[in-house]
Amino acid sequence: MPNPVYVEHNDDDVPREYCGVFGIVGDPYAAEQAYLGLYALQHRGQESAGIASSNGRELFLHKGMGLVWSVFSDPEVMPRLKGSAAIGHNRYSTTGSSDLLNAQPIAVQYRGRQIAAAHNGNLVNSLELRTMLEQKGSIFQTTSDSEIVLHLIARSKADATVDAVMDALTHIDGAYCFVFLTPTQLIAARDPHGFRPLCLGRKGDAVVVASESCALDIIGAEYIRSIEPGEVVVIDEEGLTSKTLPERASPSYCIFEHIYFSRPDSIIFGEKVDKARRKLGKQLAREAPCDADVVIAIPDSANTAALGYAHESGMRFELGLIRNHYVGRTFIAPHQKERDLDVRVKFNPVTGVLKNKRVVVVEDSIVRGTTLKQLVHLIRSVGTKEVHVRVSSPPVISPCYYGIDISSRGELIGASHDVEAIRRYIGADTLAYLSVEGMLGAVGKGDAHCTACFTGRYPTCIPEHFTKEQFVFDCRE
Ligand code: SF4
Repeated sequence: MPNPVYVEHNDDDVPREYCGVFGIVGDPYAAEQAYLGLYALQHRGQESAGIASSNGRELFLHKGMGLVWSVFSDPEVMPRLKGSAAIGHNRYSTTGSSDLLNAQPIAVQYRGRQIAAAHNGNLVNSLELRTMLEQKGSIFQTTSDSEIVLHLIARSKADATVDAVMDALTHIDGAYCFVFLTPTQLIAARDPHGFRPLCLGRKGDAVVVASESCALDIIGAEYIRSIEPGEVVVIDEEGLTSKTLPERASPSYCIFEHIYFSRPDSIIFGEKVDKARRKLGKQLAREAPCDADVVIAIPDSANTAALGYAHESGMRFELGLIRNHYVGRTFIAPHQKERDLDVRVKFNPVTGVLKNKRVVVVEDSIVRGTTLKQLVHLIRSVGTKEVHVRVSSPPVISPCYYGIDISSRGELIGASHDVEAIRRYIGADTLAYLSVEGMLGAVGKGDAHCTACFTGRYPTCIPEHFTKEQFVFDCRE
């Protein structure tokens, strides 16, 4: 008899998120606040988590593999993270393999100084930089692109740390939000295109930075503003200073943050995600109306767009699929694998909502289409009369080089199939996507967004042979 298998339920049919960063200065419980901030940002990365703190003289660090709660579950860990300043990081690997070696923050010593760094994004010229640094004698501890910046800081001739950081950042291209912690300063920087979100908040006398404002809400901090593209914010006992990187670039805010990645209760790029997502759904209803009885969402990420679609179309919104949030590693016997069980353990259709109904199913995006195919089958299995799929973004046709795990065109059904072929593949009665123009019109600051994965138009030069694992050590040598 074949051996049973365990299946990890990790949404492999959706673009994976990259990382979340958090920083706070001026709070006596800085590490605890960072823990809560990371907890709110858990959706941005589930592979590893870490916090570095400072007591004004030295840095303390703890990081590990797994979810935030499990990395910090030992009650002896938090008291060791002393001080009134801290930075934190949740990681989903976009460059570099997934292991403790690559967990962040990365803390190093150079010229008698300490610095820790946490990074969200992806550096597109990392291979070139790493090769240059290695030829000059640098020895890397990790396979992650984030470490490159620490080497550049260490090699900088600038004396003040912030100047060395700014010097290092002028050498890198791509998407980044960095938070650095030294014993006396927190430095937060966003790349000149502003691909990834980073916001600034305040809690009493403490200053807070975070990938999304939901991390401010959880600690009761007030949202102040978005950190601007190319802005470098320095926070120390003198207060807050803002500097600007010399490179100028047109803004390229990742539009996928509004479509799928960010939490709907967050403010990113100065805009409310909930509002943008509803508008995407409303625009979709205007562009792709449907004669049906009820609107449902693929939970949870499409819920808000589905509400927008229902509002605009005048149809009822119902919870037609229930998602099990407690799915982790599930035992599945080999003979059960044939029955779409990995989707069934995660979603259950609500027969009372769906039976004998013509249903509009709103999804936020289609990457490979494999899960959606199984879900359409599942929805039909309870006697649904018609299934009409509406997607609140255009077809994904190109890889992302800016920190999202869509690394090859071959994975993308939208790159090789037209809409009718995709409809047939997923088994829907009709299928329609939102247009690029409709998408840009629905989010605030429309043209200031990167849309490369939908249009193939990249805002930067892109490397010829980029892969996520480009720095993985070759053990055969
Ligand atoms: Fe975002 Fe797509 Fe641009 Fe990547 S390519 S930054 S996912 S819009």
